[in-house]
Amino acid sequence: LMMTKEDVLREANEKGVKFIRLQFTDIFGILKNLAITIEQLEKALDGEIMFDGSSIEGFVRIEESDMYLRPDPNTFVVFPWRPGDGAVARLICDVYHPDGTPFSGCPRSTLRKALKEAADLGYTMFVGPELEFFLFHVDSEGRPTTITHDKAGYFDLTPIDLGENARRDMVLNLEQMGYEIEASHHEVAPGQHEIDFKYSDALDMADKMVTFRFVVRTIAQRHGLHATFMPKPIFGINGSGMHVNQSLFKNGKNAFYDPENEMGLSKIAYNYIAGLMKHSRSFTAVTNPTVNSYKRLVPGYEAPCYIAWSGRNRSPLIRIPAKRGASTRVELRSPDPSCNPYLALAVQLKAGLAGIKNNLTPPPAVDLNIFAMNDSQRKELGISSLPGDLAEALEELGRDDVIKEALGEHIMNRFIEAKQKEYDNFRIAVHQWEIDNYLETY
Ligand code: GLN
Ligand code: MG
Ligand code: MG
Ligand code: MG
Repeated sequence: LMMTKEDVLREANEKGVKFIRLQFTDIFGILKNLAITIEQLEKALDGEIMFDGSSIEGFVRIEESDMYLRPDPNTFVVFPWRPGDGAVARLICDVYHPDGTPFSGCPRSTLRKALKEAADLGYTMFVGPELEFFLFHVDSEGRPTTITHDKAGYFDLTPIDLGENARRDMVLNLEQMGYEIEASHHEVAPGQHEIDFKYSDALDMADKMVTFRFVVRTIAQRHGLHATFMPKPIFGINGSGMHVNQSLFKNGKNAFYDPENEMGLSKIAYNYIAGLMKHSRSFTAVTNPTVNSYKRLVPGYEAPCYIAWSGRNRSPLIRIPAKRGASTRVELRSPDPSCNPYLALAVQLKAGLAGIKNNLTPPPAVDLNIFAMNDSQRKELGISSLPGDLAEALEELGRDDVIKEALGEHIMNRFIEAKQKEYDNFRIAVHQWEIDNYLETY
């Protein structure tokens, strides 16, 4: 469904839109806004709205700071939770230089570039993510806590589950924004939820993923709760993942499906799996970009830490869900929802395409519980691990040319620089664990 400039102008007027938020993300996937009024909309759609890029993290230096926003008309949507009178809508934008070239620090343009490469080979990437999050209470000053409704006995006064109510409201709002919600459920951990929406092409889905985080947090707030996509907010229980179901289509057909093959998978699918596995150690810094991400990738909490794939088992990095035909897909289970979805999808696609181009073959599927194996058993099967922390992940990221090409030099350098600083701040901080274990002993 392609929207034109005229469609947007008409719909905005029909729906009584007063404000339009022009949105884009910085390289860390944080959603940025520039609000304009309806009077400016035509100018905005012509790509004439300028902003100062130097104030956006990871963007540009002061002396080259003029940037232009080019809204994608297909992303026009009215926020359903705002009043119909003076309604608020948004448009997601690509960022351009004044000379009309795409800005290399724009994550959305970066994903477009990877999708173009796939398109040149005849492929369209489809994505169905599973985003998990926690709903926490806020304290009397409105600050988020890590207390969940399910566990917090002293909230017994509330006769209803605030979390379930908030989730229901999220689903209703998302549906009004064009999401087709396939499932929403309480996750394993107390206070943890998941909402799954129908797969879509990768660019549309990346837009949906950043919007999803924003909608979930907004609606949670309206219910007096704090929603967090922090990967591992509480030690000792499951963290929040963002499993990415992905497939390639060619000539309108799922290119991963082959009914002749014993697993129902095509050669392209095997190549793609092999590419994901080969580059997984290096793209983990992008799919799992925070210090906290690595607290989730540990044994015992349904998150992967070993590089293996399987048709059935849920412990490996890659699982092949049972559905075949048009629904044939590969599920990468390592990403978490703190990532920048544009960049995370770009690196996964590039890794998979590299597998296809180089005709890579994956190792045999592992249908045993890898967590139950010891080091030498894993070594025998050639199963290696994902990076153990952000520092290791960043080292690996810097070494991989395929991933470097996916991100481009600008994003690559700024990403590594900022993330190394983040890791360093963590490294020198004194953590509660150290106090608990050393203060009395020494
Ligand atoms: N929360 C788990 C993770 O971190 C996934 C649990 C599930 O969906 N089975 O990936
Ligand atoms: Mg799920
Ligand atoms: Mg889940
Ligand atoms: Mg899953």
